[in-house]
Amino acid sequence: MNTTIESFAQLELSPPILEALAGIGYETPSPIQAACIPHLRAGHDLLGEAQTGTGKTAAFALPLLDRLDLSARKPQVLVLTPTRELAIQVAEAFQRYAKNLPGFHVLPIYGGQSMVVQLRQLSRGAHVVVGTPGRVMDHIERESLDLDSLKTLVLDEADEMLRMGFIDDVEWILEHVPIERQTALFSATMPDAIRRVAHRYLRDPREVKIKAATTTVTTIRQRFCQIAVAHKLDALTRILEVEEEFDAAIVFVRTKTATVELAEKLEARGYAAAALNGDMTQQLRERVIEQLKGGGLDIVVATDVAARGLDVPRISHVINYDIPYDTEAYVHRIGRTGRAGRTGTAILFVAPREMRMLKVIERATRQPIEPLQLPSREAVADKRVAAFRHQVATVLESEDLDFFHDVVAGMEDSHNADIHDIAAALAFLAQRERPLQLPQSAGPDIATQTAARAERPPRENREAILERRRDFSDGRLQRYRIEVGRNQQATPKDIVGAIANEAGIESRFIGQINLYEDYSTVELPADLPHDVIDILRRVRVRQHQLNIRPLDRDEAQRDAARPRPGAGPRFGAKPAPRGEDAPRKPYAKPWDKPAGKPASDRPHGGKPFHTDRRDTQGTAFKPGKKKPQRDR
Ligand code: AMP
Repeated sequence: MNTTIESFAQLELSPPILEALAGIGYETPSPIQAACIPHLRAGHDLLGEAQTGTGKTAAFALPLLDRLDLSARKPQVLVLTPTRELAIQVAEAFQRYAKNLPGFHVLPIYGGQSMVVQLRQLSRGAHVVVGTPGRVMDHIERESLDLDSLKTLVLDEADEMLRMGFIDDVEWILEHVPIERQTALFSATMPDAIRRVAHRYLRDPREVKIKAATTTVTTIRQRFCQIAVAHKLDALTRILEVEEEFDAAIVFVRTKTATVELAEKLEARGYAAAALNGDMTQQLRERVIEQLKGGGLDIVVATDVAARGLDVPRISHVINYDIPYDTEAYVHRIGRTGRAGRTGTAILFVAPREMRMLKVIERATRQPIEPLQLPSREAVADKRVAAFRHQVATVLESEDLDFFHDVVAGMEDSHNADIHDIAAALAFLAQRERPLQLPQSAGPDIATQTAARAERPPRENREAILERRRDFSDGRLQRYRIEVGRNQQATPKDIVGAIANEAGIESRFIGQINLYEDYSTVELPADLPHDVIDILRRVRVRQHQLNIRPLDRDEAQRDAARPRPGAGPRFGAKPAPRGEDAPRKPYAKPWDKPAGKPASDRPHGGKPFHTDRRDTQGTAFKPGKKKPQRDR
């Protein structure tokens, strides 16, 4: 990792990109960016071990944008992502970074989206295409994705693609893109299967791994709270209100813009808060720090760079409002508290998809990070009422209230009011600026939502995003009918891909698939929630809506009574003879080993579908010239 890179300009990115980054508010490259950008700019292949949240999207998007030929509106960069959500996110990131590149066009393509629309969009051309493996394969086969000008292929979250059962698709794509290309593979972990893919398809790759700083920070109590981005501000203010032994806090965010925005929001809520970022002059920054030291400010909202070396003993809390890029930054951040022999508290906000980063941090700091139960509305109200009572008691003890006694007595007489009613009305007036009760918002209290999460062991990354959808499955499977079959050229892989991608059901939850002429049946968890079924109903495979529904008992019995040839691998099974309404081979679970020779004994390292083109004379591939020999 290059630790001397302080600015994006040092990475020699072009002025339009630098301007876009300044506009977004990125202050300094994250470690993965500092390490990857020079290699990708130089055209090297790259193997990057990086989690979500490390800034890896910009790590590849920025240098690749700089290498585009904008005059040719043909795909020059292809990014493969495991899910449509990520495809959209990555495409949006490209769009943001390319704000000042005239005519730039990026296109996300994923299953479930109308094929007609996609074909039209592809025919209009795009410089960058971001897609899920199944759909990208479709377009390569149809020759609607023109790969003649492809310069770079990026595999994003490769381990996730492996976990979702898409690795064969990915390899198929790797075989069908031009040989003369740059390949970058990013993965949060490096299981053997991914290493093998890297070894086989990457040429002399530069390896980038963000080193995990291992250290122990015993004087700091570390806690985390899994929270959606939209609820972070509410969560922060609740925590600030109820935390015991709160003196001062430093709140870390990612961008300069965010320091200012959040500081303003906190000020508007009555906190003595200010921003601290690299755009401020040295003098201004020093003033903020002096104010924090002296008690003129209680909260400073800072970026990593601006808070470097900050030493203010009264900082009792470090809030990681945005998760840091790596463990080093985390350790550095939390080290701003617990200084001068004091104890401190560090609180980390983790968005659902960042849960894996939490694990990495725990490992690096060699300390478990405890889940934090967000204070409920009632807990916040109790705290405010207690503080209010205390204020009233202090006034009763220390102030001369003669004049006010007369005022109240006058009210009692003229309104003929009960003294309690008058006191209640005065309390109401006194709290108007800062209500004793939190306003009721629509939906469940965010505290209940985080409580539910805290009870469960933290899940990883994408599992967390899809957790709501996957909160089913007691293990029972049931057969469903879908309205697409052999006549529509559907394959089990299409079906698994669409179900996994669109409904977020991992392939391991998808059981046997039987293909018939005009429909198919598929085993899925028996307790699929309604909203998942709704999604699946609308999903399209080969342009046909699935219209999924559970089989009734008779249908299920008929389906089960069909002749079943021996089990084979779900992917890559040969089609059963056509005619009749005979089902194809049942498809085994992904963990079932394919029958026959071990993979290494089969041609092409065991890849079942296609011929290996890398070992030919290095001639560039012309898409569409060779149809894959797989069951699509
Ligand atoms: P990623 O790991 O690519 O999912 O990025 C995580 C988040 O970090 C995204 O919200 C990015 O906008 C943000 N981000 C990426 N690079 C930087 C940077 N250099 N400075 C501030 N924020 C960044």
